[in-house]
This record gives sequence, C-alpha cells and structure tokens, in this order.
Amino acid sequence: MRFFDPHVHMTSRTTDDYQAMADAGVVGLIEPAFWLGQPRTGIDSFRDYYSSLVGWERFRSSQFGIKHYCTIGLNSREANNESLAEQVMEILPLFAYKEGVVGIGEIGFDDQTAAEEKYYRLQLELAREAGLPVQVHTPHRDKKNGTRRSMDIAIEHGIDPYKVIIDHNNEETVKEVLDRGFWAAFTIYPFTKMGNERMVEIARQYGPERIMVNSAADWGISDPLAVPKTAALMKIRGISDKDIQLITYGNAITAFAQSGQLDETDFATVRNVDQSVKFEGNSILRGGQQPRIDKSSIIIS
Ligand SMILES: [Zn+2]
Repeated sequence: MRFFDPHVHMTSRTTDDYQAMADAGVVGLIEPAFWLGQPRTGIDSFRDYYSSLVGWERFRSSQFGIKHYCTIGLNSREANNESLAEQVMEILPLFAYKEGVVGIGEIGFDDQTAAEEKYYRLQLELAREAGLPVQVHTPHRDKKNGTRRSMDIAIEHGIDPYKVIIDHNNEETVKEVLDRGFWAAFTIYPFTKMGNERMVEIARQYGPERIMVNSAADWGISDPLAVPKTAALMKIRGISDKDIQLITYGNAITAFAQSGQLDETDFATVRNVDQSVKFEGNSILRGGQQPRIDKSSIIIS
C-alpha cells in the first residue's frame, strides 16, 4: 500500500525518519508551517523558515523518494505577538503562491484569543483570494467550542467547507465536522489525543468519507510512522482495503489537490532516488558517504 501523510513537520525530523517512512510506503507528505517550540523574535526567522519549507526541506524529502508539499501560514500561538504577526501577514503572499504550496495552514485557534481570531480571519481571506484549501489547527483546550468557532468563522468568510481540512479531531468533534461538510483529519499521537485503536473505531462508525489521518510528527514525542501503522491496524481489525486507502492516502490527496498544486502522478509513479544531486550546492551526504543511486524502486507495497 501507498500512504500520504498530510501533516508532518519534517524540519524537526531526521533522515532516519525519512528512510523509515519511505520504507513503510509513504510516497507524499504535507508539512504545515507551525511554531518552532520557541517563539521567534523577528520576521527574518519566519522568512527563512518558509523558504526552507519550499526549498531545502522539499529537496531533503526528494532524496528519500518522498514528494514534499507544504502549507504556509502564521500559527495561532504566534498570532498573539501582534507586532510580529503584522509583519508576517505582509510576507505570506510571497510564499502562498509558490510551487508545491497546497494550502494556508496550519492556522486557527490555540488559546482562542482576540488576536488569534483576527489573524485566522485575515488568513482565511488570503486563502480565498489565492483559491487555496485551509488546514485548520484546532485547540487542545476547549476543543469542541474551538472547533465549532473555527468552522463558523470559515463559513462567515464564504469559504466552501469542502476546501477546509479541520485537524486534530476526536470523538467529540467528528460528527459536527462531517455533518457540516468539512474534511475531518485525525492526528494519531502516541500516549495523548488519538491513539490508533480509537481511530479504528471512528473509521468503523463513520466510514471513510472526508476522513484522513496524519502523524503531525514534530520536535515532540510523536511517531512519523503513524499513518502506515494505523493502516496496518485497520487491516488487522477488518476495515476494507478500499476504505483504508481513502483514509490514509486518497482523501488527503483529493482535499489538497484543490490547490491545483498537487498531482498524484507526481508520486504515484515510482521515481528512483539519486542522492548525488545537490540543492544550491548542498547535499544530504556527509564526507565520504556514497550517494544511493537507485536502479529500481525503493517502495515496498
Ligand atoms: Zn502541526
């Protein structure tokens, strides 16, 4: 089987993770712009971060045969630094229209402050103008209300729910998200939020329509193999292959292909990896390492 992880912060992960994901069948991924764990102090670090999402990180991913896309946005947490947020809003359009940018994200609410709402709304407008899908981060605290508010505001701004991926759902939020026509994404985190046994039950109850899973792996305790592992568990628990493929591959592609920037043929046909190529003079190889130049597929299916 092939997998697509529509939410994973590879900037924070190692080459071992890329290799493991490729070996497990992950052929494409989306890296949403987010918080670095430590607040940024100036606009230039946003600029460099966005540049790496459309540049170096995409290259790094390609070196393991995985097609890398990203979403660009101001995360909710840093929306609370208003003087910086204003500057970020000015540079976002410079990145939103770049090749491989499949949405505005991850945006939405964290503490549900007035500043978060202000920049969520401004970025919804940017998404509308650019015709891009929106990847919405829902808050961990007061999740049900925060999720409802995120959807209400998106509708207020005239965004089609079919273009909005509501992320980090759980059993409490999924019904309303689906009933209102939005996409429901689930983050499979070890120890917290959604474990994949709970996910199997949700798939059983709601079926595969407009549901997708992701790892949201970042610099914290998380699992970059969450998508293939969840697929394996679904298979063991008797979910059909067709439904598994929709939840762990096809639905995310359908949702984000609305950007016009994501074409399944870019990764559905196996490309050979050539680690001898460089990005602006840099490679992922360290002194003395031999580049891997594949003669045939690295994909295990
Ligand atoms: Zn994230």
